[in-house]
Amino acid sequence: MGTRGEIYVRNPTSTVELWRHYDTYPDYMVPYFKLFAQYAAWCVGNQRHWLTYPEDVAAMLIAFDYEIHVGDMFGPSPPDMRPRGRINDFEKVWILDIPALNEVEDIVWRVRGFDHRYGSDEKAMRNAIRKGQDRLLSKYLKKTVDFEIRPENSGGCKLCGYPGPLIITENPAMCVYCALRLRRSDDFVRAEIQRVFRVLPLISDKPVRKKEI
Ligand SMILES: [Zn+2]
Repeated sequence: MGTRGEIYVRNPTSTVELWRHYDTYPDYMVPYFKLFAQYAAWCVGNQRHWLTYPEDVAAMLIAFDYEIHVGDMFGPSPPDMRPRGRINDFEKVWILDIPALNEVEDIVWRVRGFDHRYGSDEKAMRNAIRKGQDRLLSKYLKKTVDFEIRPENSGGCKLCGYPGPLIITENPAMCVYCALRLRRSDDFVRAEIQRVFRVLPLISDKPVRKKEI
């Protein structure tokens, strides 16, 4: 059984609607959003204004979700996070509020999780979310979680800084992308990297998840 949920990525001028089939309860989604914020900060580099565009943040969220699934299964797997489209089947709702366009001074994301009140009008609920009429939401939703995150990358992979789910070694941390690059590189580069890291083997056949999400 999945825990289906709608995810809204919203700023004061636009809203992108996403949907996922599994694990939209808070125990999964709270650490998920926190790691995602680090991942997004890494993705955008010094183009921090991208962290204020719902369309870009939603695209990074789908990419992040894909990497989690690849890390879990190490095989082809579509991301569970997807555009909602016509799907109308949910128990939970998440609203990720990001700042107005190009406000990059001190970027704070606000995340709220809700339980859907069964039988309430979901079309009216979506309308209220899109229009920013949050005072109406309690008719449709019961809030379970409310927290803020500052998207900052505190550093993951020692080589490239990637902080996401595809870290395959701890201490020093290395991501699967760097491992693949190493595998393709010549003996000299490989030997140099091994000297820097002083760990063997650098490349394991199967990725090991750094932490449970
Ligand atoms: Zn890396």
